[in-house]
Amino acid sequence: MSRFDMVIVGGQIVLPTGAVVRGDIGIRDGKIAAVTDALDAQAGDQVVDARGRVVAPAAVDAHFHLGIYRPIDEDTRTETSSALVGGVSTVLSYFRTGKDYLNKSGPYRKIFPEVLQRVDGHAYTDYGFHMAIMTNEQLDEVPWLVSQGIGSFKYYMFYKALTLNAASTDAKSYTMADTYDLGHLYRLMMNIAEENRKNSGRISLSIHCENAELIRVFIEAVRSRGGNDLAAYSEARPPLAESLAIAEATVLAEATGCPMNVLHLSSFRAVNDVVQWRSLHREADARTETTLHHLALTTDTTPGGTGGKVNPPIRNAREVDQLWAAVFRGEIDQVVSDHAAIPAVKDDDLWEAHAGFGGTALLYPVMLSEGYHKRHLPLGKVVDLISRNPAVTTGLYPRKGAIAIGADADLALLDLEREQTVSAELLRSAQPFTPFEGKTLKGWPTTTIVRGHVQYDKGQVVGTPIGTFLRRPIVAEAD
Ligand SMILES: [Zn+2]
Repeated sequence: MSRFDMVIVGGQIVLPTGAVVRGDIGIRDGKIAAVTDALDAQAGDQVVDARGRVVAPAAVDAHFHLGIYRPIDEDTRTETSSALVGGVSTVLSYFRTGKDYLNKSGPYRKIFPEVLQRVDGHAYTDYGFHMAIMTNEQLDEVPWLVSQGIGSFKYYMFYKALTLNAASTDAKSYTMADTYDLGHLYRLMMNIAEENRKNSGRISLSIHCENAELIRVFIEAVRSRGGNDLAAYSEARPPLAESLAIAEATVLAEATGCPMNVLHLSSFRAVNDVVQWRSLHREADARTETTLHHLALTTDTTPGGTGGKVNPPIRNAREVDQLWAAVFRGEIDQVVSDHAAIPAVKDDDLWEAHAGFGGTALLYPVMLSEGYHKRHLPLGKVVDLISRNPAVTTGLYPRKGAIAIGADADLALLDLEREQTVSAELLRSAQPFTPFEGKTLKGWPTTTIVRGHVQYDKGQVVGTPIGTFLRRPIVAEAD
């Protein structure tokens, strides 16, 4: 009888086909070594009893911001612990030079080793990075970054004219960049497209699509009539601003052949723009993303002032319903948290408050509660949206994102019937508040396993920071 380091017995397994079947899993050397309908519990050095639970691939949170507002080593420790609560085994974090993060600029040949060194030994999940190319010098570093395991990059459409706070309109002091505009984006896309052709596996550009000039005009209008709530914020950064930026980005993607991830789409209009464009350009590679907060929060029901401020903004209930309709039509490829831990309760002045918040701990809970239970989204679709597709998009599939022989043993054990009311403490993040406060969600991970290590169990972090840096794209290994 073959031996395993761990066996997980008695659960219902979500297979890559989406089927949910009764089955057992054998794990050896951190990888899935057996998936069968009857494994002897005696065959494992460690036995996990999964009766009454669903065993799903752990989530791949493909949009994360480690160290944006807090020291990156400390932030990695607390926020990857928070990820475990949401059934997440892998985070893909954005990094850029400029204000926040390490608060400096320079070549990535100097800065990226520092990032890796400061994160090393602090992560409870595996991790990788999407790098924002801010300066001319960094444009030339794209091939070097790819050689270091960076499989994706980032561009912010809205940095060129105005920044996050209305009081500060000096984009340059924020980005610490040279000429950060559409010309820069064109050159970046050319460089990424070339790397994508040269390498096997997908190399892509992630884009935050909001048009800065329109936002400036709408913010002025909304502020002048005293708007200071989340509905006002949505009006100040309307779907039209997303739409115009998507139009610009798609023209350049078509000209350069650059694979693209269109991030955190907040409106039906924005989703439809990308869907229409890719239906006209069959050769185009554009993946669509939305966030769990755009699917679960609305401007009228989110409590507590500025806590729910985020870019692009959360919208009204009608937009949320339309986003769900797009999910059901298969027009949204992935759902992420866009996790950015804010160290203190936000400023009461909407226009001065930090944008963003942490939510990674709610990835499975929101998708199970709002998707599976409330709207009857099949379990297999939930897994596709938060595990399989983000693993594909970021070049991690099939090592991550599937319960299959040879894949990393990254698993979330889900109690579909468990109901809990969200509070900041429950999420185990360093962020002292959550815009989901008081929301009761049904369906929670009870156990999160990373490469065969039980990292989180029954509300407690029980593992150690064993997370490793993932070089991407993963190319199928011959073994
Ligand atoms: Zn983000």
